[in-house]
Amino acid sequence: MSEYHLALITELLKQYSESREYNSGTPSAYLMRFKERHFPTLYNSDKTKRENPMRRCIMCSKDNKRRSTRYYCKQCNVGLCVVPCFEMYHTKQ
Ligand SMILES: [Zn+2]
Ligand SMILES: [Zn+2]
Repeated sequence: MSEYHLALITELLKQYSESREYNSGTPSAYLMRFKERHFPTLYNSDKTKRENPMRRCIMCSKDNKRRSTRYYCKQCNVGLCVVPCFEMYHTKQ
């Protein structure tokens, strides 16, 4: 890879991470979740042996919406849509 391409990619990554920070809401809540290590995890088929395992989203099911998601929180062991339910679940009581 040429030096020019490397510089270009570095610049793109920098811009990408900067624009993400602007859109990530309150920094304190963001850092708190980061510290507590709650991340959306892809619900893989190791246990179920199914090709596209889905989990019911706990936030949506509270609202009587029947949405399924491929992501869940490993720490809480609940199915959650990445957006917006994952954040809502961890920032609201
Ligand atoms: Zn969690
Ligand atoms: Zn949801």
